[in-house]
Order: sequence, then structure tokens, then C-alpha cells
Amino acid sequence: MEIASREIHRIADWLAASRSTVVLTGAGISTESGIPDFRSPGGVWSKYRTVYFDEFLASAESRYEYWRQKCEMHRDFADAQPNAGHNILARWESAGRIRGVVTQNIDGLHRLAGSKRVLELHGTALEAACLDCKSRYEIGPLVQQFLVENSVPACPACGGRLKHATISFGQTLPADVLMEATRWAREADLMLAIGSSLVVTPAADLPRAVVAHGARLVIINRDPTPLDSRAEVCLRGSIGEVLTAIDAAVAGRG
Ligand code: NAD
Ligand code: ZN
Repeated sequence: MEIASREIHRIADWLAASRSTVVLTGAGISTESGIPDFRSPGGVWSKYRTVYFDEFLASAESRYEYWRQKCEMHRDFADAQPNAGHNILARWESAGRIRGVVTQNIDGLHRLAGSKRVLELHGTALEAACLDCKSRYEIGPLVQQFLVENSVPACPACGGRLKHATISFGQTLPADVLMEATRWAREADLMLAIGSSLVVTPAADLPRAVVAHGARLVIINRDPTPLDSRAEVCLRGSIGEVLTAIDAAVAGRG
């Protein structure tokens, strides 16, 4: 962290002076909790065939395949706990240092860490939603039901089609969440983009909006992103270590 120490202090200065900082997170913030990101070779996320939303709607067979995959991932990640990065962001929110977190993640770890203002662009894997009556349910018991009965559970309220409350390929993002995230980005004077490859839109449009109105963008990510040249600072270290260093530098300012 020695090399980046000047950068760490610049970011801490901006954070301390900012009136509205928005944090955008991607899969990278959760790898230190043991959840692989999208692009890690051989990772669980690359071993499944994608079930597109229209396939899910069209056939019972696709719905079975979808639930089979999701239940396997549930088994692997249900016990994941927030890490230093999630915890620091939760603390910054309660201390009034950041407005909130916009996340591409579906793992629920920001809320588990105590963050309250979280905009989950891609929904959450901790719940299922009925596509027919919109009722929502905790995911755990439904996963158990699938594993015991080896068939896709139906909505207890209406008998309709239950799906994880995450956004599938081919499914549109929740308009209200996206609108709120866009408003935060427009009103921000600082955005920290953390652990996102910044290639998935519309999430990647948020840092673009921040830069477009002249606000500062800081990128913390191990690999390069298409927006690096637009950022004031890019830090390449481990997210847990970088955020811990920024946190210490900010605390030093009182
Ligand atoms: P991504 O996999 O495309 O990119 C993650 C980035 O994080 C990479 O560029 C990598 O260099 C960086 N990274 C990983 N671990 C890091 C660490 N410890 N320190 C610093 N950098 C690190 O992820 P994305 O941009 O979020 O897009 C993938 C999509 O897949 C998301 O939209 C998300 O919905 C979904 N996804 C979610 C989860 C989750 O909820 N935890 C996990 C995998 C994929
Ligand atoms: Zn229903």
C-alpha cells in the first residue's frame, strides 16, 4: 500500500470534503468473502448455461434448470459473510460520509454488513418473487423445498411462477431503482467505483454520468476498466486493503 499512499490521502481528502459521495460496487467487493466474480475462469458463474428470461417464461424445463443452478449456487454461497470492504462502507454510511451504495451484486452482503441505503440494480438472491402476483418470499425454505421435492416450487399465494428476485439476462432492470441510482449519480460530487469491470450497462452508465457533469470518479479495481482514463485516480490493489487504508486516512482527519 506504500506506493499508493499519496493517492489514498487524496481520496481521503475528497471524501472528507464531499457533500454527496455515491459508491458503486460490483462482484469484486465480494470475492474476499469467497464469492467468485463473473470473469474468474472456471468459476461457478461460468460453468452454467445461461437461462434467458424468455426461456424461463416459456418452458417448465427451463424453469427447472434455472432452479437447479440457483440451488447449487445457494449451497455454495449461503454462508458468505460481509468482509472488511462491506463493513467499512456500512460504517461510512452511518457516519454520513456516503449517500449510499449502488450495487450490481445480488449476494445481499451490503445489507448484511449494515448498509441501509442500498440500490440493488440486479435484485437480490436472498428472495424469490412471484412473476404472477408479485409476492416475495425468503429464499432459504424454497431452496429446501426444491431439493426435497426435486421440482420447482409454486407461489404459495397464487400457484404462479416463482423466480429468484434477481434480474436474468433478457429481463429489464427495475425502473424505480435505476431512476434513483441515476439521480444519485447526477447529484454526486464524488463516485467510488469499486470491484466492477464497468462493462455491464446500465450500471457502467452511472460513472459516465458522474464524469459528464464534472464530478470526480475514483476507480478501485484489480483489472483495468474502460473508464480508467476518465477517472481522477485508479487504484489496483485489493479492495479490502485499499478501503482499510482510505478509512484510516479519513479517520485521521477527524
Ligand atoms: P466482474 O466479474 O465483471 O468484475 C469484477 C471486477 O472486480 C474485476 O474487474 C476484478 O479485477 C475485480 N476484483 C475482483 N476481486 C477483487 C479484489 N479482491 N480486489 C480488487 N479488485 C477485485 O463483475 P461486475 O462488474 O460486477 O459484473 C458481473 C455481473 O455478474 C454483475 O452485474 C453481477 O450482477 C453478477 N455477479 C454478482 C456476484 C455477486 O453478487 N457477488 C458475483 C458474480 C457475478
Ligand atoms: Zn403468486
